[in-house]
Amino acid sequence: MHRTKIIATLGPSVSTLSKMKSIIKAGCDIARINTAHGSLEEHKNLISLFRKASKEVNEVTGILLDIKGPEIRTGDFEQEYINLKTGQILILTPEPILGNSKKIYINTNIAPYIRPLDIILIDDGRIELKVIKIEEKEVVTKVIRGGKIKPRRGVNIPGRTIETPYLTQRDKEAIKFAVENEIDFIAASFTRSSSDIYEIRQEIFKLGGCIPIIAKIENKSGIRRINNILKVADAIMVARGDLGVELRVEQVPAAQKHLLKQAQKHAKPAIIATQILESMVENPTPTRAEVSDIANAILDGADALMLSEETAMGKHPVEAVKMLERTAKAAEVMLFKHKKFSELTGGISHNVSNAAMLLTKQVHARAIVCVTRSGKTARLISRHRPQAPIIVATYSEKVLRQTTILWGTTGFVIEKGDTTDEVIEKTMKEALRRGLIHKKDVLVVSASDPSGIPGTTNVIRVHIMGSIIGRGTAFGSAHVCGFVILDPNYNKDSSQNTILVVETMPDLETMLKFDAVIIESNCYDPVIVKKAEKKGVVIMAGVRGIISQVKEGEILNVDPERGVIWR
Ligand code: PGA
Ligand code: MN
Repeated sequence: MHRTKIIATLGPSVSTLSKMKSIIKAGCDIARINTAHGSLEEHKNLISLFRKASKEVNEVTGILLDIKGPEIRTGDFEQEYINLKTGQILILTPEPILGNSKKIYINTNIAPYIRPLDIILIDDGRIELKVIKIEEKEVVTKVIRGGKIKPRRGVNIPGRTIETPYLTQRDKEAIKFAVENEIDFIAASFTRSSSDIYEIRQEIFKLGGCIPIIAKIENKSGIRRINNILKVADAIMVARGDLGVELRVEQVPAAQKHLLKQAQKHAKPAIIATQILESMVENPTPTRAEVSDIANAILDGADALMLSEETAMGKHPVEAVKMLERTAKAAEVMLFKHKKFSELTGGISHNVSNAAMLLTKQVHARAIVCVTRSGKTARLISRHRPQAPIIVATYSEKVLRQTTILWGTTGFVIEKGDTTDEVIEKTMKEALRRGLIHKKDVLVVSASDPSGIPGTTNVIRVHIMGSIIGRGTAFGSAHVCGFVILDPNYNKDSSQNTILVVETMPDLETMLKFDAVIIESNCYDPVIVKKAEKKGVVIMAGVRGIISQVKEGEILNVDPERGVIWR
């Protein structure tokens, strides 16, 4: 199982039910819909298909809607594309026109925010323009680096903050669509400050929804204000595509490391996006550099990685997800060896999560089970990157889908109970039924005591599956699960395992008839016991009070390694 979460952008290359099922099986946890392309109607079809695919392959997945905010783009042209010559003049206008090589439309009135000599970049920086003068809303530029441009390409003005309201009419419609279609995450392109996040949250609230917001950090103002953004956003995305144009490309690695560190400090998930496996848009295998980049991002604390073109338009979408999954798993092995713990910070939930993490290490727990109403405890524990899987039990499908972004988690929905004990019991039963935990496991459980502060995880428990009913001196090594027999003269007539429970040590011949023998008395002949052990019988001696606790025919477990008997 991979712990780092995988986000795949949907598009023409993954638009069928079978392709979607394949990418989910390959490890995709979240589907991203990019509202820069396609209509809401088309998105709706993709979403219902993706949900159907998840159901059919029986995996919990989330859906992320990417809204564009103050992203600046060019428009359509008279022809299929235009050619710009270096040295020529080009006018940018916010009036909706079909562009040509003299004048093109851009979707924002940038005139108030720029100055002569500013640089404007188009299409990932491929085209470079220099501002000559500003004539009302029109910007007259000189082409510094020319070339071919296709319609609706991104425009960047490095270093300038375009202080327009965050939400465009188009985004408001997308948010309404997100609320109506129960989208699990909204990704906010070009988040400039915490007030952008507030603006989106208010819009969601007005529509009666509640959707986690992922701040996409893709320019200088987002980086500068990251701490305030992290206080109010639910997660961040390091959007390396635009970041590589808004900053100098060589500044992106440092920005990425800085953003990951800040996200970890705030215990908020961080996604690394763009050109993750870019070469796989064309090729069936990645470059060594790409694989190395992914591994390093995971070691630096990325919770999730996002594929864009690779899955949306690439030739090998399923292979790209598979490759990312394999690379993540290999990187996680390194992570478990090298990672450091974060400092103890925050309130009760933080401290309880830290303690749960330490306890998990000390008792070698098989898993950490988080019973959580909001998913918060799972998030706080996930930050520590435990080697033990984090099993999330929560009360709503919606919260469960929101945990798909959290590193290392897997989970299910449970019904509420009256007491903490009851809820934990239900959780264990369901985890066992799903094969996430096993009969002999030692687990660390975090939950909240209903008498405590609401929404605060304040209970940690070390839970040993099944209840231990006795301990003794053990001989043998194999774990035996079998039926209790109280009569030493019992003659075995089936292939099922039998466990003789007696007060005093029987003779060797009797012992050899059973798979295990439990002796209440502490007085036994070690020579005979050793002989029986040699023949494969498991013996536990000196198990006080065992006879009064067991019934003929019930099933018991004898674990000589730990010297315990449980049912
Ligand atoms: P985009 O964002 O794909 O929506 O442009 C990601 C990025 O800029 O890296
Ligand atoms: Mn972007």
